[in-house]
Amino acid sequence: MQYLSTRGYKDKFSAAAAIEKGIAQDGGLFVPEYIPTFAKEELQGLILSSYEDRAVAVLKKYLTDYTEEELREAAKEAYKKNDLNNNVVGFSSEEPAPLVKLKSDKAVLKDLHILELFHGPTSAFKDMALQILPHLLTKALEKTGEKSDVVILVATSGDTGKAALEGFRDVERIKIIVFYPEEGVSDIQKLQMLTQEGNNVEVIAVRGNFDDAQNGVKEIFTSEDFNQELLTKGYKLSSANSINWGRLVPQIVYYFSAYLDLVKNKEIELGEKVNFSVPTGNFGNILALYYAKLMGLPVGKLICASNKNNILTDFLKTGVYDRNRHFYKTYSPSMDILISSNLERLLYQITKEDTSKVAELMESLKTEGKYAVEPEYLKKIQEDFFPSWADDEKTLEVIEEEFADSGYPLDPHTAVAFNAAKEYRKATADFAPLVVVSTASPYKFSDTVLNALDKNKYEELKTTSEFAILKALFAKIKMPVPFGLANLENQNILHKKVCNKEEMKEFVLQSLV
Ligand SMILES: *Cc1c(COP(=O)(O)O)cnc(C)c1O
Repeated sequence: MQYLSTRGYKDKFSAAAAIEKGIAQDGGLFVPEYIPTFAKEELQGLILSSYEDRAVAVLKKYLTDYTEEELREAAKEAYKKNDLNNNVVGFSSEEPAPLVKLKSDKAVLKDLHILELFHGPTSAFKDMALQILPHLLTKALEKTGEKSDVVILVATSGDTGKAALEGFRDVERIKIIVFYPEEGVSDIQKLQMLTQEGNNVEVIAVRGNFDDAQNGVKEIFTSEDFNQELLTKGYKLSSANSINWGRLVPQIVYYFSAYLDLVKNKEIELGEKVNFSVPTGNFGNILALYYAKLMGLPVGKLICASNKNNILTDFLKTGVYDRNRHFYKTYSPSMDILISSNLERLLYQITKEDTSKVAELMESLKTEGKYAVEPEYLKKIQEDFFPSWADDEKTLEVIEEEFADSGYPLDPHTAVAFNAAKEYRKATADFAPLVVVSTASPYKFSDTVLNALDKNKYEELKTTSEFAILKALFAKIKMPVPFGLANLENQNILHKKVCNKEEMKEFVLQSLV
């Protein structure tokens, strides 16, 4: 299978080359030239399989230039279990992506399941893809005969940076440099990054906000002189953010896995439709679900949940994508985003691969900050997607209410999706089995969750330390604290570099000697 650009660039590339490049020359995103499908018998054969087997089955349909053995090795390494005696930090659950049935008597919550994607080393769903991407990239370098080593540059607002560091640590031929806004991430997120071990990792604070860090990284990517200079030193740049195809395809796996688990647990018959609700930011996670549906997984509605930065849900309602609006900092910061890059891949599919149309819309987004799709396209999108958004107040209310009702503690991102699921059922009376995708451990956002569950305690502790809050939350929800978070307090700070936004290039060069 070959990959092409959503904006019509003339050449096609192998999966390995697409993963290595990250983004196409014309600024478009790599898409497969056709969507592979699963026959019912094939799904049948996977019902009793492990996550690893299911991953290989999905990956091999897209990454056809990798051998099955290579994919199996990658999946095995990526989804291994914690073994703390041997210093292996992997997944803390029996299966990498467990499905939990909600225990509630409320009619609106009947047949509702939670897909927990937060049991990886950094306690957020980014691990599901960033644990396997380094293996795919390393193999890609062998396949394409690339001589240079790779430098992964990341600008992060929190979760991606840590997950990428953990995934790429000590990987041969790859160096990773993460820039984060000095005052723009939570204390826990900052500590997670500053204590990162590994012989190829660099973490640098930027004096500025996330946009400064992100713009600096973009400028480095597009500077020809700088890339030339790196090449003479034996390095090429690549990206680990969610536009990379190598991050998207592993995310398709957990939708298949969740569905197969429902069949295995006798919650549904094979072939029965299931709805999914997904907390959405860059549109990567929900796009993977859309691909799963196109591949033949019996998916009903794709419920797209946003926070107060509701640019996506507005688009799904009106067909107008308009970024000329206020940017809010919310309790679900990983969804605080105004440019959902992966939407470009949906537009490519919806317009029946009309690359000049996609290029035109993206140009309009760049120059005017907005675009509008024709009513026929909007109608097609609305056949699959249902939009719903919640503000911070609602988010707290949902966390409190659901813990009181079922004893299940939701993180703020998951709470937004949980609310959307209820809104969907109320609006449509479609009570088909529904899976809410849970993207973070409640402990990763302890302050917000404690604020929702025990406001007095939170007020008492909020000026003390993140760890006091985490412990108070443990006393309340009594769920095991993920090792990576529990252990943070005892770890040494290993990274202390701070730079101005104009100095990012120099810091990259310094890191490479
Ligand atoms: C990244 C992230 C999201 C948003 O996922 P997208 O693929 O960007 O839509 C939601 N929740 C959490 C906790 C995240 O880290």
